[in-house]
Order: sequence, then structure tokens, then C-alpha cells
Amino acid sequence: STAPSGRRRVLLKLSGEVFGGGKVGIDPATVRFVAEQIAAVKNTIEVAVVVGGGNFFRGAELSENGMDRRRADYMGMLGTVMNCLALQDFLLQAGVDTRVQSAISMEQVAEPYIPLRAIRHMQKNRVVIFGAGTGLPYFSTDTVAAQRALEIGADEVLMAKSGVDGVYTADPKRDPTAEKYDRLTYDDALLKNIRVMDLTAMTMCKDNDLPMMVFGMEGDGNVTRALRGERIGTTVTV
Ligand code: UDP
Repeated sequence: STAPSGRRRVLLKLSGEVFGGGKVGIDPATVRFVAEQIAAVKNTIEVAVVVGGGNFFRGAELSENGMDRRRADYMGMLGTVMNCLALQDFLLQAGVDTRVQSAISMEQVAEPYIPLRAIRHMQKNRVVIFGAGTGLPYFSTDTVAAQRALEIGADEVLMAKSGVDGVYTADPKRDPTAEKYDRLTYDDALLKNIRVMDLTAMTMCKDNDLPMMVFGMEGDGNVTRALRGERIGTTVTV
């Protein structure tokens, strides 16, 4: 489903962990590092981004500590919007026109989620950042990545990981014999209980034949390389 313009169109998923640099809050140096790598493909690749919020709040964790799950999930979604604004800021500084679209209405800081408009932005060389998840509790931003990618007709979902450069046969930090997969099918991942995304997201990709690449964002230009389509991580397909 390459964009009508013939250009590659991708959906980049950045977890909240990426934004926080492993801590709570925003790590500006890391956000700048990512923004500059997105800027490198300006005018050549259509880029949409879904950002997580785990560096602020995860609904499931808050509810384990006594909060109502639904309200905690809304807090989680609001956290993603702060990440969106940080990324927007550094993209603008890197010379890339950017729009944030939020699934929860907050018109002072973001446009509402309007898929056709998002596509139009990308055609005009703007990066679109999707915030506030689906706007619905009990979902994850992985699921949002799959859903938005399908709705805007992205060719591929790119899952940027921190601290690991793909999908392995076992946890490479614990098992020295662990090997990296270059390729994997969704059925294999499901069967082997490898959670490259959460189950809802994986099922959605599988059912709709949407390919994905899991890659490590550290290292020189890895985000740019992934955006360009280099197979630097693990490719997961039907
Ligand atoms: N969330 C939600 N609905 C959505 C997306 C996210 O309720 O559609 C909430 C949920 O509480 C989640 C939090 O937002 O824990 C942050 O998102 P996520 O955990 O997916 O972020 P990541 O792990 O990618 O940093």
C-alpha cells in the first residue's frame, strides 16, 4: 500500500522509554537525537509517529497500586501527549514541519485525529505525530501503532527499541546463546510466545497483513536507516 505519490510511507513507534532515556520525564538529548534522524529523510519518506507514555504513567501499574484502571489509563494517554510535544519541538528545530494529532480533544495543543488530514500532512512533507493513544482505556500504544498504520495506509510499522536491536530466541541480556532473528512470522512469534508487541497489536498486524520491523534505536543513524527500509532489525510478516 505504498502512498499514491509512490513514496514510502511508514509508521514509527517510539516507546515512552525512548523519550525518558530510562527515567521519568523527558530526556531532551535523546528526543533531539531521534528528531534529527527523522529530519534526515525529509521530503523523501512519509513519516507518521506513534509515541508511548511509559516514561510518565502506565495505567496497569497505577491500578496495581490502588487507582481505578480507567482513570489511570487516561493519565497514561495524557502522558503520551507531552512526549508528542517534545518530539514536535525538536522536529521543528531540525527544520521539519510537524503536526500533532490527539485522540483526546485538546485543541490548544493538538489537532484532533483526522486520518485523511494526517495523510494530507504527510503528502506535504509534514511529520504527523499521533498522541493520546486510541483515546480509550485498556489499549496500548502498540495497538495504536498498528491501527494508525492501517488507517493511513503505511507500508510498514517500525518498532524502535531501546537496549536491544531486534527479536531474539531468548533474552540476550540473560542468555549468551540467544540468537537474533532476521525474519519471523506473526504465527511463529505467537506460537513461541514472543511478544514483539502486545497480543492485540500483533493480531491486528497479522489479520491485516501489515509487516513490521523491530530494531534498536541506538547506534549511528539507526532510526534513519530503518525509515529508509534497511533491514537492520527483525522483520515480522504474515
Ligand atoms: N493507554 C490507553 N489507551 C491507549 C494507549 C495508551 O489507555 O490507547 C494508556 C495505558 O495506560 C498505557 C499508557 O497509556 O499504559 C502509556 O502507553 P504505553 O504503555 O503503550 O506506552 P509505552 O509502553 O509505549 O511507553
